Amino acid sequence: MGARIAIAGGGPTGLMMGRLLAKDGHTVEVFEAAHEIGGLCRSMDVDGYTMDLAGGHIMFTRDQRVSDFWDELYADGEVCTHERQTRILHQPNHFVSYPFENALGELPLEHNLDCTEGTIRARLERDRIPEPDNFADWIRWKMGDGVAKHFMEPYNRKIWKADLREMNTKWIAGRVPDAPFEDVLRASLGDTTEGYTHQSVFRYPLRGGFADIHDRIAEPIRDSIRLNHRVEAIERAPDGRTWLVDGQPFDHVISTVPLQHLPKILVGMDAAAADAARRMQFRGVACYLLGIEEDLVEPYSWVYLPHDSMGPTNRITYLSNYSPENAPTGKGSILAEVTYNPDTPPSAGADGQRLVAEGLQSAGLLEADRVQVSHGVLNPVSYILYDLDFEAKRNTILDHLDGLEGFHAIGRFGRYEYHNSDQCLARAFGLHERLAPILEAGGGDDRYAVEGPPGETGR
Ligand SMILES: Cc1cc2nc3c(=O)[nH]c(=O)nc-3n(C[C@H](O)[C@H](O)[C@H](O)COP(=O)(O)OP(=O)(O)OC[C@H]3O[C@@H](n4cnc5c(N)ncnc54)[C@H](O)[C@@H]3O)c2cc1C
Repeated sequence: MGARIAIAGGGPTGLMMGRLLAKDGHTVEVFEAAHEIGGLCRSMDVDGYTMDLAGGHIMFTRDQRVSDFWDELYADGEVCTHERQTRILHQPNHFVSYPFENALGELPLEHNLDCTEGTIRARLERDRIPEPDNFADWIRWKMGDGVAKHFMEPYNRKIWKADLREMNTKWIAGRVPDAPFEDVLRASLGDTTEGYTHQSVFRYPLRGGFADIHDRIAEPIRDSIRLNHRVEAIERAPDGRTWLVDGQPFDHVISTVPLQHLPKILVGMDAAAADAARRMQFRGVACYLLGIEEDLVEPYSWVYLPHDSMGPTNRITYLSNYSPENAPTGKGSILAEVTYNPDTPPSAGADGQRLVAEGLQSAGLLEADRVQVSHGVLNPVSYILYDLDFEAKRNTILDHLDGLEGFHAIGRFGRYEYHNSDQCLARAFGLHERLAPILEAGGGDDRYAVEGPPGETGR
């Protein structure tokens, strides 16, 4: 007899868990609050243009198992492969390569001098000064004043909508490109070096936008997905061992619900853990799809817009470059991302769309009166904000949750791990591997954290 397993959340993590457990013969039920599956990886059609709702998403991974799984999922070949072409818009109409430190020679001479001198000074002083634990000081300690001034500070202030002194540095490894000193010097002399090479080739579904991956993952469990069902109560059943999810009995619960929402849902949550969960900080991303004429499309995958003078957008993706199916023939598309503090959401409507288009026009990326279609979407829970007491809060919450037999917290916000969807799939493989023998044996004590392979973001 298989186990009955409730999965709260039908994003990549929940869907993958459902697929793996259903394949083992267990009865799964995936509860999804929205009217469709996919979470942050959803896509929609806007008058013939494909829009990825939570910003530009690409398929890339360092995890062989995930890569093999994607191969299997796309054995029909319905996937596009691209070389990453990313740029930073340094000034209107002046693109430089990404990462910034690998492209100093492409900057105006004065800016190159600032950055190169700062890099050298920082390198000479670094061994004398202990590594700072706040992001603002870390930037200057690691990269020097010039890179801080011309890119890192304006860009990070724009994306995080936070005081960088109030952010920690634990999340940086693998997230902020770390160019070797020699590469930076070479770059400043005009030899642009390549950085962040693990992302240099990526894939993207041919049809249906990024959501297609998760539609395919969900295919075998379609009948087990309950849409428009926001889980409101998870509690121990009277037997003290199994669980009730909105009154329905289950042996196990897998929760991808953002931790900050759990105090309202998880009955009897430990008070300290609930308090910490309420204080977890996050940021939203407003996304705007702009349908444009093909001649306005640059030959890039995505472009960073670090400066406020370029409008509210922090990054654009030329989504029509990802798949020929993403825009009607002869047309192209831009997907603009504007991060926000959830307390002060921007307009997703006409006002917000106009502001974004005008900003892109001032940056030289658009002729606003040639935008043919535009659409905006708010995604309130999109980025984890790594504030100074992040680790302490998270540990308090997870120590409690991981001690609950039969309850498993997993996912980008279900566990507050800065994971892309590939890492979410990797975590799902990992949890499944640990759960499978326990479920096979018919239950038992299963206290295990969702630890990943060494070297990944984890506790
Ligand atoms: C701007 C941006 C760019 C990104 N780029 C990439 C990229 O290039 N490549 C990549 O692989 N990844 C990328 N990601 C990351 C990717 O979006 C996430 O890793 C992934 O979506 C996380 O999956 P998840 O299932 O853990 O969470 P989510 O996708 O957040 O899904 C959680 C689901 O749970 C549901 N839910 C929440 N509460 C409840 C409840 N109480 N009851 C029922 N359902 C509930 C939500 O509606 C949602 O559907 C990007 C993310 C952002 C924000």
